[in-house]
Amino acid sequence: MIFPEAAIGARAWPADLAFAVTHRFGAEGVRVLSGRAVAGIEAAGDRTLVRTDRGEAVEADVVVAGLGIEPETALARGAGIAVSDGVDVDDRMRTGAPDVYAAGDVARFPCPALGERRRVEHEDAALSTGRIAGRNMCGGDERYHGLPFFYSDLFDLGYEAVGTLDARHETTASWKAPFREGVVYYEDAGVVRGVLLWGTFGQVDAARALVGREAAPRGDDLRAISG
Ligand SMILES: Cc1cc2nc3c(=O)[nH]c(=O)nc-3n(C[C@H](O)[C@H](O)[C@H](O)COP(=O)(O)OP(=O)(O)OC[C@H]3O[C@@H](n4cnc5c(N)ncnc54)[C@H](O)[C@@H]3O)c2cc1C
Repeated sequence: MIFPEAAIGARAWPADLAFAVTHRFGAEGVRVLSGRAVAGIEAAGDRTLVRTDRGEAVEADVVVAGLGIEPETALARGAGIAVSDGVDVDDRMRTGAPDVYAAGDVARFPCPALGERRRVEHEDAALSTGRIAGRNMCGGDERYHGLPFFYSDLFDLGYEAVGTLDARHETTASWKAPFREGVVYYEDAGVVRGVLLWGTFGQVDAARALVGREAAPRGDDLRAISG
């Protein structure tokens, strides 16, 4: 696994959690090459050679590139619809053009609890915004109040999260079992921006209610949510 950060998830998780996860990948037999970029990929017989910017050459049977996406906005732009990083929509999923809606990965919607517009590449947002766009296209008048929600599983570890997970924000972790079960709160300028429920399930709605709140999530709040 080759990536430029110091640890897996380093941009999203507090450093101690990111390094614990990276250590776990190593213990599971994954060769982790952190702090490196892929400099080139070339054929080597029936295998593939991946070269890093540190001069290493890694032989592979299969290469999986997880590099993110760029939203395809040419169709909307060509129609004179406002686009930035995605197609700009309001909270009803309407674009700037009459009777034209956008939803899912490509839509950039207002997110008041985070104080910014967001484009979210996750199933939950695609389903929710798609449903609202469809209903409004049929004459409804529904607004999207959703917050980004996402989840993943890593070996026997798993998490659910809402809001923005940015390791540059101030983080407060409450662990029941270190790096296995706990909650991490992300604060920026005194406002809760994200909640990471690590091995902690059934608390997504409680976590959503915290995002956008000005009070720091300590004391009773921590205990209430981490059970
Ligand atoms: C490898 C991978 C793993 C993922 N894992 C997760 C996960 O674990 N959890 C999670 O929440 N999300 C995950 N996602 C993200 C999730 O799949 C997307 O957020 C979701 O599918 C977005 O739905 P969508 O309808 O907006 O776009 P898409 O599912 O991309 O659908 C858009 C469709 O529009 C079609 N299209 C594009 N342009 C045109 C055109 N001009 N005319 C007609 N049709 C067009 C495309 O062919 C495509 O079928 C993953 C994505 C990938 C790629």
